[in-house]
Amino acid sequence: MSYGNLRLWRYKALILQEIVKGLRNYSSKSRVGVNLEKLRPLIMKRIAQAKDDRLKVKPTLLEAREVLRARNALYDGVSILIRHIPVWVCKYCPEVYIGESGHLIRTCHGYRHRSNNKLHEWVKASINDVIVPVEVLHLQKIFPDVNKHHERFDHQYIPAVVELCLQVGVDVNDRSTSSSLITPPFPDYGLKLIARQTMTAWEELRSGVHKLLCVHPARVCKFCKEVQVGPSWHRARACGVLKDESSHCWKRALVEDLVPSNVVWSRRHQDTRVLVDQGRKYYGHAPAVVDLCSKAGALVPSKYFCMMKVHGFTAPRESSL
Ligand SMILES: [Zn+2]
Ligand SMILES: [Zn+2]
Repeated sequence: MSYGNLRLWRYKALILQEIVKGLRNYSSKSRVGVNLEKLRPLIMKRIAQAKDDRLKVKPTLLEAREVLRARNALYDGVSILIRHIPVWVCKYCPEVYIGESGHLIRTCHGYRHRSNNKLHEWVKASINDVIVPVEVLHLQKIFPDVNKHHERFDHQYIPAVVELCLQVGVDVNDRSTSSSLITPPFPDYGLKLIARQTMTAWEELRSGVHKLLCVHPARVCKFCKEVQVGPSWHRARACGVLKDESSHCWKRALVEDLVPSNVVWSRRHQDTRVLVDQGRKYYGHAPAVVDLCSKAGALVPSKYFCMMKVHGFTAPRESSL
């Protein structure tokens, strides 16, 4: 076969191939028929799934209401308890201690970590020293470009938990969310009851926020701990830790980022009246709220026993150390 005939033959073969392809794709005979009867169960299943997804939103809203109620109860309870149980905070660092007087453990790093292993200087603590406030930029609209840097003074910062609940759909004017579980104090067993209710509120708040974060994720900056709740990351406040004031380094936020434990040294009944530096490896820790409630007579959930070293050894006496 000459070269010219070969080219012609290939050209014809290509045309034929295209025609056959066309017949395969577009011919009514070769098209695979859609059997709607067979697809019907699948379609019905998809519709049912969509309905289920819509119904799942409701429990989240109920959960958010419970979270706000628990938060109110926690604040009410702690504000009452700190009037009766002495709570101390260091003048130069965020260390908190609950007891008759401050401890003597040398863990003070001073103002802006400028010193090391100093004794703390204790002053009376307020509610914000026990429940560490975490505030976030309030998103007015759910829109990606909201909260630009130049708009940073136009927006308000509100508690992170409240913002989370608002984005779930809770109405802040809803009276049921503003009610507190705490009953007013009355003589003798009043404080113990409040301590118990405050402990319950703490646990409910933390578990509720955990559930909400599974559905409505939030972000926290790895470096400066700025929290952002919502569908987009904002650029309202530059990262305070990085020297070039660049944007934050976000990661998924956990309960601890929105409701910090604020762990403190916890004095057990077997410890000396004042905790000393020499016995620090024997002493336990507890979240400040848990320690406060336990000092006021509430039972501590067993999950904290390990960190509190409830059944741990007593520190040897100072003379034998
Ligand atoms: Zn200190
Ligand atoms: Zn940052």
